[in-house]
Amino acid sequence: MEPGAQVVASSVRRASPSLLVAIDVGSSGSIGAEVVGRGTTSAPTASELLGVIRRPAWQRDALCREYPPQMFFPAIGASFEPAREVCGRCLVRDDCLAFALEHEEPDGCWGGLSGQERRALARRAG
Ligand code: SF4
Repeated sequence: MEPGAQVVASSVRRASPSLLVAIDVGSSGSIGAEVVGRGTTSAPTASELLGVIRRPAWQRDALCREYPPQMFFPAIGASFEPAREVCGRCLVRDDCLAFALEHEEPDGCWGGLSGQERRALARRAG
C-alpha cells in the first residue's frame, strides 16, 4: 500500500493454520497484509480483532504488507535475507524496530533484525 494511503476496508483471515493476517484495502485500490497473530488455530478472538483496530499508525506504511507474511517469519533455518532486503527499503523501519524492542517481540524480522539480533541489541543498550 502506498505510504499515506487511507484504509477503506479491513478484514482478518488465516493465511495458514497458525498465522492470522489482517488484510487492508487502501483508497488507491492497493492491498496490504500483515501478521496480527500466530500460534493458534481457533477463530480470531475479540482481543486479536481489537489489536487490529488499535494498530499503530506507522504499520499502515509498512512495506512488508506487500509481501507474504511468511517471508518475515521464516521457518527455522531459513534465510532472513529476503525480509532484510525489504526492511532496508521500508520508510517506517525505525518505528518498527522500536515497537519490536518495546514489546519484546520474540520472533520474526522486525526493522530488519531477527529476534536474536534484537535481544542482543537490547542487552547492549542496557
Ligand atoms: S521494517 Fe520490515 S518488518 Fe518492519 S514494517 Fe518495514 S518492512 Fe515491515
